[in-house]
Amino acid sequence: MVFDSDAQALACCRWWQRVLRLQDWDVSVRIVSSAAMKTLDRVGQITEFAAKKLACIDLLNAADYASGADFCSPEQDHEKTLVHELLHLHTLDWPGKDDTGGATNAEEVCVDTLARALVEMKRKNDGLQRENQADEAESDSAGGRENGRSER
Ligand SMILES: [Zn+2]
Repeated sequence: MVFDSDAQALACCRWWQRVLRLQDWDVSVRIVSSAAMKTLDRVGQITEFAAKKLACIDLLNAADYASGADFCSPEQDHEKTLVHELLHLHTLDWPGKDDTGGATNAEEVCVDTLARALVEMKRKNDGLQRENQADEAESDSAGGRENGRSER
């Protein structure tokens, strides 16, 4: 999924904050160019002020996926990156950070695996709900026709 606007990104962020129990954080989200990233290989980043429970998530503009760096794959996904960055709020106190607070490889793998799994499960669930609604609508209209016949 690619967000069209900061507002769409923020709405999605609020939804995931509820799921991840991070509603007590004041999180802002921006879609930015690669120039705004701390390093060129990034597709997302989070800056947090834990004492105030404030965080700012930057998501790389989709237009920069290709030009930003070779590392940005075409299947880059704003929602997965957003969830990845939100999950870092749960791992702030994990051990092994470098001097700048950078996460270990193990932490990155954990956060990334969970983010992908969660977003894929959400989409699968959304798809099933749509199928169920379509089935219900179909059986409702079939029932309506049956009732019509029985009245004749
Ligand atoms: Zn990360």
